[in-house]
Amino acid sequence: MNIDRTNSAKYRASLAAVTGMDIYSASVMEAGGLIWAMGSKDFEKFLLISTTCGCGCGLLPDFEGSGVCGEGMAVKVCALTHDNAVALRKALPFTAPQLVGLSRSVGCGDRLGVATPGHIRAARGSGFVPILAQQSIREMERTGRTPENVIDDATWGIMQEGYTDGYGSDADHLKQPEYIDSCLAAGFTLFTVDPGDHVDNAAHGYDDAELEARFVKLPFADLGITADAMKAAYEGKEFDLGQSVLSFDHHSLLKAAVKYSGAVLHTVGMYRHLVEAAAGRPYELEVSVDETETPTTALEHIFIASELKRLGVEWVSLAPRFVGRFEKGVDYIGDLSEFEARFAEHAAIAKLLGGYKISLHSGSDKFSIYPIVARYTGKLVHLKTAGTSYLEAVRVVAACDPALFREIFAFAYDRYETDKATYHVSAYMERVPDISGMDDKDLPGLLDHFDVRQMLHVTFGSVLTTVKPEGGLLFRDRFMDVLRRNEELHYETLAAHMKHHLELFG
Ligand SMILES: [Zn+2]
Repeated sequence: MNIDRTNSAKYRASLAAVTGMDIYSASVMEAGGLIWAMGSKDFEKFLLISTTCGCGCGLLPDFEGSGVCGEGMAVKVCALTHDNAVALRKALPFTAPQLVGLSRSVGCGDRLGVATPGHIRAARGSGFVPILAQQSIREMERTGRTPENVIDDATWGIMQEGYTDGYGSDADHLKQPEYIDSCLAAGFTLFTVDPGDHVDNAAHGYDDAELEARFVKLPFADLGITADAMKAAYEGKEFDLGQSVLSFDHHSLLKAAVKYSGAVLHTVGMYRHLVEAAAGRPYELEVSVDETETPTTALEHIFIASELKRLGVEWVSLAPRFVGRFEKGVDYIGDLSEFEARFAEHAAIAKLLGGYKISLHSGSDKFSIYPIVARYTGKLVHLKTAGTSYLEAVRVVAACDPALFREIFAFAYDRYETDKATYHVSAYMERVPDISGMDDKDLPGLLDHFDVRQMLHVTFGSVLTTVKPEGGLLFRDRFMDVLRRNEELHYETLAAHMKHHLELFG
């Protein structure tokens, strides 16, 4: 689709005059014989579709809106509804998520639904394709969002920022087939399958007799192979990773098979469901085993990838569980040389077994490992982030509404012990500073404090959804209002933080 911005400044002025709105300058463009823009009035945003000829009242019947005329233009003013988002994705295909394939990519989870312009500013010119609509069902439930909300919010952000280079979407950590259906219907394109519940985490502790007993009981019929054929396929076979050559012995095969065969089968089932349900719609797959109790060894990675390939699964990225700690909102915790040695193996395996991307989950703020990751993956990498963008929004609240920040801070302090349950974090509330005597101007700096970051990170769901005893949301509306009123600061704060991530990849 041909996009023309030659007359954008002129149209921007005319649209502002006709509608009385502030027009987002990056959004103004001509495409398909019409002029498109996003505007806002009293902090409410609208899509504007206009033409310089005729009365324009029949302008694009797919869009719901009202017409205004003036300055030689007819303008249709459209609210940011789901139906209008659907119509926009049809009319301007760059506003719809697309396949990212093996391009280097960054996942930009946006739990508040207003971060996309900041994410785009970070991704522009970085060599990373941004995945702007990314949320797991678990996080959607925590924030009261739906798959449609997630895609629509990205669509509006794309339009506002006038970003035409294409973006991806990620239905993250899918554990059940029905969620594939709802995310497909909403327009998601990347499906991250998480078979973690089907990993036998106890396999490391089994002795040889136990492993043997469990191995022979694996569902070989479903796996489409016999026990003997599986042994023959792996035992003694060498995998040349360049810097090292790995091979399975009897014990390591049994352990890998016992630990991961259930996960392989679950992934195959999810993949087949996806292929069938997609019915012509674009899709691609990520396999994530990052949420297991023990790190994925090189041999286990080889086993998982080889089995998935044998069973016909195709994927663009795979997320192993790495050595060390990938805690929320903070840098990598662990031995960097150990990480490098193990990461080099994972990257080499990904290249050897088909050339897919290594995906880094809980990837935000892991600044010390990015240069290592870049060195071994080249471009075959996906960096997945989410909560760190929420923390940057909190930083904006700290700067712009200190009183609200202090309330959220106290609330999060009390919620931490409860909310941390499902997260990898190690903050101690005893180390969180007492901020009662702290100057307002020092509050944003708290967002650089290890324990404060984790405290605020894991409590986001409670902060966003807690209802007051008398009804109404405790924080959410005021929180969102601060971001609306300080929109540019929010985008620039976010962009600077995300750019810092991407630049370390070189
Ligand atoms: Zn993950």
